[in-house]
Amino acid sequence: MPAVDRLVVRFSSLGDIVLTGAITAALGPGTGFLTLPRYADLAARLPGVTHVYVPGDALPQVPVIDLHNSPRSRSLTFGRPARRVERQDLRRRLRVVFKTAPADPVLERYGRAAGVVPAPAPWLPAARRGDVLLLAPGAAHATKRWPYWRALALAWDGPVRALGGPGDEAAVSAIGGVCEAGFERTLAAMDGACALVAGDTGLLHLAAAVGLPVVGVFGPTTSADGFWSHAGAVVELPLPCRPCSRFGGPTCPVGDHACMRDIPVEQVLAAIRGVAR
Ligand code: SF4
Repeated sequence: MPAVDRLVVRFSSLGDIVLTGAITAALGPGTGFLTLPRYADLAARLPGVTHVYVPGDALPQVPVIDLHNSPRSRSLTFGRPARRVERQDLRRRLRVVFKTAPADPVLERYGRAAGVVPAPAPWLPAARRGDVLLLAPGAAHATKRWPYWRALALAWDGPVRALGGPGDEAAVSAIGGVCEAGFERTLAAMDGACALVAGDTGLLHLAAAVGLPVVGVFGPTTSADGFWSHAGAVVELPLPCRPCSRFGGPTCPVGDHACMRDIPVEQVLAAIRGVAR
């Protein structure tokens, strides 16, 4: 096994792991990566990653770049020199309540912790470009789900494919798609696409990581809140209640879900036409 000179730590979730590709690419070979078992295959594909560890493995005695900065990450890497990401949790909470300025972008904070300039995407082997429009209608939190995916699929004048991950089955089958089992098959499904449309979800970041143009439809979270750093277009409305949550939630706190319901199909279509050339 090639030598590991540093250990990057990020346990979850899909979108965050994908974004760390900008850091592992900048760090280069010799990077070990500590993550949860379900993200180990993805971490192994990131540029510069030489070896993947999961909790319970014997970890190398090397400097740590802790991009999670949780009690668990600090405990598992105890005794090693470490640079840890600034989480800015208070700033993010205050923004939801008082609509104050957003926290610094995630990639900026990751880069500061690692002491590198984040590398531009793609961070995974680039997808072959084709003519299929990918729609990812699922989202773990109900308020992040845009309600007009089926109308969008019918309105697009080209081939369309729906995809999603575990838990997205109902949303995906509603527009005639099938959820891909596992990260490798999801990546394979992205081959031959012209663009991907999704909410603020891990699939949005995964598509960006393979170099696809992406359209992000944002509702209870905003594109300014840290995770959007992609080539593509954002569709979102300037409502005073946004953001109402850091991650989305089960119901709209004001009851009308206007942040998503008031985004018309035509607005998303225009955004797609702008990026899917
Ligand atoms: S309409 Fe406003 S309060 Fe309701 S989910 Fe969207 S951002 Fe939150």
